Amino acid sequence: MSAAMQETCAVKRNWMQALDGMGVWRRHEPMASHTTLAVGGPARWFFRPADRNALIAAIKACPADVAILPLGRGSNMLVPDTGFGGFVVDLSDLDEMAFDHCNVSAGAGARMSRFARQCAEHGLTGCEFMATVPGDIGGGVAMNAGCFSQQVSDSLYCIEVVLRDGSVIDMLKSDLSMGYRHTDLPTGSMVVSATFRLQPDSPEQIRERMRSMRSRRSSTQPLAQPNCGSVFKNPHGDHAARLIEAAGLKGLQIGGARISNQHANFIVNTGDASSADIVALIRHAQAAVKQHSGIELETEVCMVGEWEYILAGDGHA
Ligand SMILES: Cc1cc2nc3c(=O)[nH]c(=O)nc-3n(C[C@H](O)[C@H](O)[C@H](O)COP(=O)(O)OP(=O)(O)OC[C@H]3O[C@@H](n4cnc5c(N)ncnc54)[C@H](O)[C@@H]3O)c2cc1C
Repeated sequence: MSAAMQETCAVKRNWMQALDGMGVWRRHEPMASHTTLAVGGPARWFFRPADRNALIAAIKACPADVAILPLGRGSNMLVPDTGFGGFVVDLSDLDEMAFDHCNVSAGAGARMSRFARQCAEHGLTGCEFMATVPGDIGGGVAMNAGCFSQQVSDSLYCIEVVLRDGSVIDMLKSDLSMGYRHTDLPTGSMVVSATFRLQPDSPEQIRERMRSMRSRRSSTQPLAQPNCGSVFKNPHGDHAARLIEAAGLKGLQIGGARISNQHANFIVNTGDASSADIVALIRHAQAAVKQHSGIELETEVCMVGEWEYILAGDGHA
C-alpha cells in the first residue's frame, strides 16, 4: 500500500473512532435490510446518529472524498447489488416532534405515518396523505412525496439542513423549488428537521379521511410484497401504470422481480430478486413504453450509487 493510501486509511479510522459512542457504527452493512425492496449490497460505512449533534459531528468528521447517502426508510431507494461505496447516514433516530398551535416540527427520521396520526390527534389537517406513505419526514421532503391530491410542499414552511461541511442552515420552502416529486436541496446536504403549517379541523374527520385513503391504497396496490411504491413518475397528463399496461407488461418477470399484476407501476420482489433484476425490468419497461407510446418514462425510485458497470452490460440490465 502506498504512503498516500496508508494516510487515507488512517484518516478514515480516526473518523470512525471520533464518533464512537455517538450512535450505531457498522462496516459493510447490508442495504437490503434498509430498503423496502429488500435488495442492495453492503454500505461501506454505515452510521445511525443518536441525535442531531452526533449527525453534525459525523458530517464534519467525514473525509471530503467520501460520498454521503442520507437514508430514511429506504422506501424509494434502489441500491446496486455491489452496494454503496460511501457513508450511509441512517436518520431514523432523529424522530422528535414539537407542536406549537398550527406549526408542527419534526426530525428528519420521524415516520410520516406517525406524524400524520399525531397531527390528527391535535386536530390539524393538511398532511393526511402521509398516513399512507411509508417514508420519513426527511425522505418525504427530499422527494416532495404526495398522493390523494396532497403533497409535502402544500404544508411545508421551512427546513433545517446540514451542509456537506457540517454547517447548519434554515431554508424556507420558497428556497427549494419544489415540484412534482422534486426538491432542490443544496448538493451534498441533508434535511435535519422540517416545520409544517397546518389548518385546524375536527380530529374525527381527519381520521376518517386517513382511513379512506388507507383502504383505497390497500385495494389497489401490492402491499404484501417488497416494493418501492411507484417506480416511474407519471408523465404530464398520463399515468405510467396505464402506459406500462398498454405495452402488455403487467406480470412480466425477470429473475425474482415482477411488474405487479395489481398495479403496473409497481415492481415487486417475489422473494429472491437482485437489484440487477429490478433494473433490467425498469430498462425493459422504458424501452417497451417508448416503442409502444413514444413516451420516455422517468424513474421516481432513486437509483443511488454506481450503476454504470451494470448498464454497460456486466449485469443483465
Ligand atoms: C408501498 C409504498 C407506497 C408508496 N407510496 C408513495 C406515494 O403515494 N407517494 C409518494 O410520493 N411516494 C410513495 N412511496 C415512495 C416513498 O415512500 C417516498 O418517496 C418517501 O418520501 C421516501 O421516504 P424515505 O424516508 O423512505 O426515503 P429513502 O427511500 O430513504 O430516500 C429517498 C431519497 O431521499 C434521500 N433522503 C432521505 N432522507 C433524506 C434527508 N433527511 N435529507 C436529504 N435527503 C434524504 C435519499 O438519499 C434518497 O435519495 C411509496 C413507497 C412504498 C414502498
